[in-house]
Amino acid sequence: MSERPRLTVLSGPSGVGKSTVVAHMRKEHPEVWLSVSATTRKPRPGEQHGVHYFFVADEEMDKLIANGELLEWAEFADNRYGTPRAAVLDRLEAGEPVLLEIDLQGARQVRESMPEAQLVFLAPPSWEELVRRLTGRGTEPPEVIERRLEAARIELAAEPEFDETLVNTSVEDVARELLALMDVV
Ligand code: 5GP
Repeated sequence: MSERPRLTVLSGPSGVGKSTVVAHMRKEHPEVWLSVSATTRKPRPGEQHGVHYFFVADEEMDKLIANGELLEWAEFADNRYGTPRAAVLDRLEAGEPVLLEIDLQGARQVRESMPEAQLVFLAPPSWEELVRRLTGRGTEPPEVIERRLEAARIELAAEPEFDETLVNTSVEDVARELLALMDVV
């Protein structure tokens, strides 16, 4: 690779399928380095510390924030999430393509602190499709679903802030387009 690769940030409304796209992409291209975030959320079944997240206690998160060790951080659904700064900078320095998969609040912070970063918005194929994904199993009470939909409306309106938009029509296509934006293929 001739030039120093840029940091790429993948963001978008919750429920749009960011993590599925990233998982698919990494299966095919393990050389893309994906930042492992710190979170105060509890692990879900199958999630491993240091692989999917660094699962930390509230006090540890307080410290990471206070010491400026996070490139960005945000509160999402009552938990905090943040990107460890040093690892990202090391990988970029080493010339590796680096990807962050974070929420919109985090993407805005990266825009401020690293204006050269490439911000990619993952959009649903349609509003109806996003509603289908967010209402999903249909087990949530109506007021919870209404809150999620209201949040999704606000999140969708952020699209013009991004450098690129990819529409999540198929996981394979979007993963390929993302790799192309990262100059990996
Ligand atoms: P989940 O709890 O489902 O793994 O993630 C919830 C949300 O947090 C997703 O939208 C995900 O992109 C976002 N997220 C994960 N890690 C980070 C991070 O380090 N910073 C920010 N700002 N958001 C994150």
